[in-house]
Amino acid sequence: MRILIASPEAVPYIKTGGLADVAGALSKEYRKMNEKVYLVLPLYKKIRDSQIRLADTGISMNIPVGDRVIKGRILKNHQTAYFIECDEFFDRPELYGTAEGDYSDNASRFAFFSKSILEMCRSLTFKPDIIHCNDWQTGLVPLYLRTLYRDDAFFKKTAALLTIHNLGYQGLFPASHMRVTNLGREFFTPEGIEFYGKVNFLKAGMIAADVLSTVSETYSREILLPESGFGLDGVLKKREHDLYGIVNGIDYEEWDPAKDKLLPANYHFKDLSGKALCKRELLRMLFKTVPKSREEQVPLIGMVTRLSEQKGLDLVLQAVPEILSFGVKLVILGKGDERFQKSFRELSGKYKDSISVTIGFDEMLAHRIYAGSDYFLMPSKYEPCGLGQLIALRYGTIPIARRTGGLADTIEDFEPLTRRGTGFLFADYTASGMLDALKRAFCVYTDTEKMQSMIRNGMQTDFSWKRSAQRYLELYKTALQKRRE
Ligand code: ADP
Repeated sequence: MRILIASPEAVPYIKTGGLADVAGALSKEYRKMNEKVYLVLPLYKKIRDSQIRLADTGISMNIPVGDRVIKGRILKNHQTAYFIECDEFFDRPELYGTAEGDYSDNASRFAFFSKSILEMCRSLTFKPDIIHCNDWQTGLVPLYLRTLYRDDAFFKKTAALLTIHNLGYQGLFPASHMRVTNLGREFFTPEGIEFYGKVNFLKAGMIAADVLSTVSETYSREILLPESGFGLDGVLKKREHDLYGIVNGIDYEEWDPAKDKLLPANYHFKDLSGKALCKRELLRMLFKTVPKSREEQVPLIGMVTRLSEQKGLDLVLQAVPEILSFGVKLVILGKGDERFQKSFRELSGKYKDSISVTIGFDEMLAHRIYAGSDYFLMPSKYEPCGLGQLIALRYGTIPIARRTGGLADTIEDFEPLTRRGTGFLFADYTASGMLDALKRAFCVYTDTEKMQSMIRNGMQTDFSWKRSAQRYLELYKTALQKRRE
């Protein structure tokens, strides 16, 4: 199958969230399966400034954006990843915006990107069977296929899948930005891409893609409900029969405690001694003292997260005094909303012996927290899939999480009598709900046998990409089938 993965970010090139892991891992997996796969991304400044070697294809394109025509050039890395260069749009410090807010021309930037994706296929004479679009930044692609490119024989057999990684991000713009899509006013209706007086790029993909998917089965059902549908539940309901859920995997080569070079010690589920060393080193590094052996015995809770409301941080902020009353330590790595950055910084100042907060995006520290913590906390308000809990499980770190979306699908609540289960789940989105789960978790902490069996259960569960990649290939076939009908 000829596959094009269109995404605003992908590892190993550029990453701000889980979406990058998905796009990168899938293309790697397909290559192993000998599928013909290309990846296409904007050429951000961060990619240009990195070590990645980019070759010029010599191809440039003229892309209409509203009444302007903007030049894009195509660069590539190896034969598999393509980058759309347009300095006016992508030569900026960040991907989508700064702490002050989103870039004001995001509609133009990603309408340009979406059109470039299709023009690139023509320029490279690469006729994809499927374009796998990801999130609002590529949401216009399926609609362009059905409108501007409808009569184009080149794309006659090309189907489109839109994967919604997070319905909370829709690419919403003022009505005046409709112009930059080059779609007629007839599309600015509730049946089209209007959304309460605004233009909605994600909705473009939702109405036009042959099939839709989300990143877990539970989330694919939750978003049909008004309370989790972000105003789009009605639209999704109409497409319920074309909506699927495929849970994400993690890259088992990147995330492998037995080989991870970023850790001070490696370990395996048969011998966890290296994990204790990782904990000691983490405590030493973050609390800047040599931990006394008593301190090493204390449960350590880790969090690696975007600092956004979705992640349930207000519950953590509310519950800190009670969490600490259990005599535990908390290490947090995160970046995001200024109000959370400020609150967490203040907390670490107030409880500097018990809470360590690092504001920033730090790959190495993330690995060390996954390995060195006893528990991994994810009290998310909603969670389409979540990668943090999958990585934690792989690293023998027990997840404590809210029973929602992908967290509900990938963590099995621990049953002390049968010793089945891999983590601790709670249902109510309240501080007391979360504290109950924490209490249950700490009760098991001193029971070495129970802890070990939980850790082993988690480490042995298979969340590699292989299975999910197979399921996506099946879904591509379904999309092709629907395209033919
Ligand atoms: P989301 O995509 O909503 O941010 P996920 O759990 O699906 O959440 O994926 C987040 C990914 O980004 C994980 O791989 C996590 O380890 C990583 N991550 C999040 N915040 C940071 C950070 N501050 N530093 C390093 N890695 C981070």
